[in-house]
Amino acid sequence: MNILLVGAGLSGAVIGRQLAEAGHQVTIFEARDHIAGNCHTERDADTGVMVHRYGPHIFHTDDAEVWGYVGKFARFLPYRNRVKTTVAGQVYSLPINLHTINQFFGTAMRPEEARRFIEDEKADTSITDPQSFEDQALRFVGRDLYEAFFRGYTRKQWGMEPSQLPASILKRLPLRFNYDDNYFAHRFQGMPEEGYSAMVAAMLAHEGITLHLNTPFKRGMAAGFDHLFYAGPLDGFFDNQLGRLGYRTLDFEEFRHDGDYQGCAVMNYGDEDVPHTRITEHKHFSPWEEHEGSVLYRETARAAGPDDIPYYPIRLLEEKALLSDYVELAQGCAGVTFVGRLGTYRYLDMDVTIREALDAAAHFLEHGTCPAFL
Ligand code: UDP
Repeated sequence: MNILLVGAGLSGAVIGRQLAEAGHQVTIFEARDHIAGNCHTERDADTGVMVHRYGPHIFHTDDAEVWGYVGKFARFLPYRNRVKTTVAGQVYSLPINLHTINQFFGTAMRPEEARRFIEDEKADTSITDPQSFEDQALRFVGRDLYEAFFRGYTRKQWGMEPSQLPASILKRLPLRFNYDDNYFAHRFQGMPEEGYSAMVAAMLAHEGITLHLNTPFKRGMAAGFDHLFYAGPLDGFFDNQLGRLGYRTLDFEEFRHDGDYQGCAVMNYGDEDVPHTRITEHKHFSPWEEHEGSVLYRETARAAGPDDIPYYPIRLLEEKALLSDYVELAQGCAGVTFVGRLGTYRYLDMDVTIREALDAAAHFLEHGTCPAFL
């Protein structure tokens, strides 16, 4: 069959590869001038540093099949995401762990003591079924740690009060009563040796796949294809006819440094009077490489305008209502499957995106078709 894919990010590359391997003819239209979507990486011409052009992407998963799959297209080298945060003139370790707790409270507690201590910290909160980010945080770590590490950062990142945000955002982060400072608790974690774009390029390197960069999609372009997998923005597919789904976008102010600027890949800034949320020093994403020069991004978040790159779907009540209207429209379109972060308007990690892409391709190969949403 003749299959059209819109978007050459992870969803498009994985579905394209799976269908091409099964003998289908795959055409991909990508609006930007590069592949790999927001996990695009490229080497900086001056320093040779591998830069994450759209901000930090660390691959982590519990899904052995997904881990095996990415390993077919790139060599993954060991990488542990060890994030630091600067708050009120001190550097702390994230996610909140025993080191963070002892440093913050000036104590030398052992795990069980710290656990009891945090239980007492939480005692003044009577929240049983947390719905909001704030309730979840108060129940999780108590008021002092919440106000230092989460409140300011979250206001900057999301541009609204944590009491308005869903609890699910915080549920991404662990709390540890030991000295494990690995940001992620997943079994598999690593960084592709030559970056994500090289991995995606390897996925797309198949004779059954034809890629067109710089090719924004309009619905008429799907004529003549047997099926469309669409990984672009869901509202954009319908020319925003019901209104725009809200996103946060990011601005990266690039700067350079000779040597090592901050000693780690990601330094968060929890204080509200510091405008940026974090600084990324890209060379630390490739600890096996040596570079004298350094490339850094100072990152700030704001509401996305119509011409901005969408990053984080906002998914508050208003967006969810609009989303369900778009989902209804989408379900009325025959021969189209909406996939990925933008196509389904969800905050997706890379491994989940790949899992869902594999599932969508498997469904199509088994049934010869695929519903609007899997
Ligand atoms: N967060 C925070 N302080 C931090 C790091 C994270 O308050 O130092 C909150 C913030 O609301 C963020 C959420 O936790 O949006 C999820 O964090 P994560 O690091 O998973 O965000 P990502 O790297 O996907 O932007």
